This record gives sequence, C-alpha cells and structure tokens, in this order.
Amino acid sequence: MGLKLFNTLSRSVQDFAPLDPAGKKVGMYCCGPTVYDFAHIGNWRTFVFGDLVRRYLEFKGYTVTHVMNITDVEDKIIKRVRETKTSLREFTGKYEAAFFEDLKTLNCLLPHHTPHATGHIAEIISLIEKLIAHGIAYQAADGSVYFSIEKYRGGGGTYGQLLKLNFDELRAGERVKSDEYAKESAADFALWKARVPEDGDVFWPSPWGEGRPGWHIECSAMSMKILGPGFDLHLGGEDLIFPHHEDEIAQSEGATGKPFVKHWLHGAHLLVEGKKMSKSLGNFFTLRDLLAKGFTGREIRYSLLTAHYRETFNFTLEGLQGARAALARIDECLGKLREAAGAPASGPARTGPQKILQPAGSETGAPNKLLASFTDALDDDLNISAAWGTVFEWVRETNRRLAENSLNAADASSALTAWDKIDSVLGVGAAIGFEIPVEMNLLLEARQAARKAKDFKRADAIRDELKAKGWVIEDTPKGPKLKKI
Ligand SMILES: [Zn+2]
Repeated sequence: MGLKLFNTLSRSVQDFAPLDPAGKKVGMYCCGPTVYDFAHIGNWRTFVFGDLVRRYLEFKGYTVTHVMNITDVEDKIIKRVRETKTSLREFTGKYEAAFFEDLKTLNCLLPHHTPHATGHIAEIISLIEKLIAHGIAYQAADGSVYFSIEKYRGGGGTYGQLLKLNFDELRAGERVKSDEYAKESAADFALWKARVPEDGDVFWPSPWGEGRPGWHIECSAMSMKILGPGFDLHLGGEDLIFPHHEDEIAQSEGATGKPFVKHWLHGAHLLVEGKKMSKSLGNFFTLRDLLAKGFTGREIRYSLLTAHYRETFNFTLEGLQGARAALARIDECLGKLREAAGAPASGPARTGPQKILQPAGSETGAPNKLLASFTDALDDDLNISAAWGTVFEWVRETNRRLAENSLNAADASSALTAWDKIDSVLGVGAAIGFEIPVEMNLLLEARQAARKAKDFKRADAIRDELKAKGWVIEDTPKGPKLKKI
C-alpha cells in the first residue's frame, strides 16, 4: 500500500503521488512562525506535524525539499514594534532565535529553506505587478493594492477551493486591509499596504509608493520562488485555511495560470486541559513554560505525536506524565537490547536509518514485522495511534523474548536497527545522551572542576543541587554521566 493523505482540496483521502515524473522528489511548504512572540504549544503541534510528514516521506524514500517561511513583517509584528519602541529586525530577531532553539528542543529537522518575508520584497513586488498586469489586482484610493475577487472569478479563477463560500453574501467592491479576517468578511484583500504613520520605519519603496506587503502574498512569493509555480504539499494549521491559504491559491494561480498545490494538509486545533487555550484561563503554554515545569522537549514531542493530525488534541499535563512513562518503557527495552547486542548499555544513541540485516531463525522476523506494521499505519493518512500501537506491541514482545533469553546478539542488533529506522520518523530517540538540559550539564562540569580542585564540599553541594533538580551523577568508565531520577 502506498501513502494516502487527506487532501483539504478534495476533502477526501487520496493516494499521494508527487508531481515529479520520476516519483522521487517532493516539494513541501509549511507556513512558518510569525515571529512576534514565543510560539505556543498549539503552534508547536503544527510544526511537529510538519516534521512528521517530512520525516515519513524521507522514510518512504522520497527526496524532500522542505521550506518553512519566517513571517517577519505583518500587522501584529508592526503593532508590537511600535509598542516596544524597537526596530523591526531587533524585535523579530529575538523571537526568531527562540523559535529555532525550540525547534531543536523538539527534535524537529531543520527545514532546507527558511526564507524571510523581508528578504523577498522584490519577489513580492514582481508577483503583485503580474496580478495587476492580468487585471486582477488594483490600486485603491487609499494607495494600497488589492486583489480583486470579482475579476479573478470573472477570468475563470476559483475562489473558495478549500472552503465553500457563499458569493451572494460577498459584496462587490468591499475591501479588507487587515491580514486576518473571517469568511463572513471575505472581500478584496490587501497585497501591498500603503505606508501609514503607525508603520513607523517599516516600509519599502514600490511602484505604488512606500508601503509593505500583505501577509498572504508573502507565502505565495516565497513558496513559488523556491519550489516553482506548482508543488506537491502545503501544510499549516486548520486556522490558516481561510483566508490565508485560500488567498495564497488565488494569488498564485491568478499570476501563473497553473495549479498551485497538489495536496493541502491541515493540522487540527489543540485544546489544553479540555479548553481553548487562553492567557486569561491560565492554560496558555509556550514550549518554554513547559520546560520550566520540568518536562523535556522529548516528552512534549511524544505527547504532540500521540493524536491523529486531523483530530482535536487535548493537551494535558497529565498526558505529559504519561509520555514520560511511555518513553521510559521504550528506553528500558532499548537499554536491554543494547546489552543483549553486546553494545554498552549506556552507549550513544544510534542515529539514522541503517540497512536491516535479515536475521536467521523462525522468530527473528519481529523487526521486519515492526517495520511493516508501522509503515501500514502511517501510510493510512498518518495513523499515528496505530503506529504507536505497533511500537508498544514490539516492546512487549521484545521484553518477553529478552526475559526468556531467546534473543541472541544478532537478533538484538537487528531489532535495534529496526528501531533506528522507526525513530528516524518518530524522532523521540533514546534517552541516553538525549536532551540533558544545558543548565544540568553546566552543573556537572562545575562539579568536575570542583573535584579537580579538591573542593569536595562544593562538589557535594553541586551533586545535591543536581539531585534536587531530578538528576543523579553516575560514574562510568567514560567519565561521569547524568541520569534522570
Ligand atoms: Zn503562509
């Protein structure tokens, strides 16, 4: 069975087939962060989902070009730049750096391209010029340039591909300048916003006077520049379906006359403790808030990967405790397998897919069975619950065989190789050497330095401090290592 994915365009599960005639290369664009604040756990659900899609495509043997934009100029950013009296670059730079740190904490692969909107003003202007030349964009009396839905539809374009719209309710000639609006106020949207005093220093020259791009045109310009006028996959949270993605389709297809994206994938919302996340309810978490509570990026990643991407996910702190317990079961099994395989139990985590050796013997088909069931599960529109089901079934079976001593070193090694392949998709790794917080490593180094200086009182105090934070030091032949209590 090949990979099947739900396509928001057709509202059905479809076979995934890349545009590449050789069926090998896949172009994938994920709407990235708007760098005006720390990304919250709802945002992270979408980014981890994007990471899962990319990793699974690579597992299937596709060569993926993964693009994620950085929105570093739009309405909310400009408002915050004004409020904080900083420069645009200084303000967005801080949140962009935090975003990439968080991406790493969650073990998401770095996209191959992370284009910035402010680095693509020329491409944005040239795209708007094309739309004007095609008669589907116009400069209004306020100096801003708008996309004309009426002209686009009149020319044969379909507005409302991802979402059914009632055009009787849309009033011709209405315009919306803000980047975010509801479908009830669907109207001509801004491509280029004429400079106003509130924009401060944030403006660029253009054929229509000084101003700045609208949010939607940014993604059309950057995705098509890197991936071409038509590409395979476009991902985002379901809140982006309208207007952002609908507008992206209109602008892109209006300019090129070609189909923009073959498969649209949208991740569902996230609730926290059963409620919509909001600062006033006290259930609003950035990744950093959760790390401060003592959870690790690995536990949070696992938790975000437990629900199907099209289901609303109820994120809870209790669920994170469950993630910790589930990962401990995997780690324990992997540790025992390493011992059985003759590798040091505390050796470095193995990384990257490796060729699976076909082991001899009747019962040794388990690793291949694991890979086959795992693939069947994810081929089915990324059925992650079934995929975890196969993983834990394998853990149970492996533990049973380890307990009865029926796994030889070759079997154990083969099982570990299969796990490595599985983990190239899941990205939860093995706990050993994984994600020891920087602060803890610094304390460990300080303790070593104290011991070297024969300041044993200080060394002991640091050991106690580590213990209070949930870490113990284990002395190994390779030197001291930190272990979670
Ligand atoms: Zn976008």
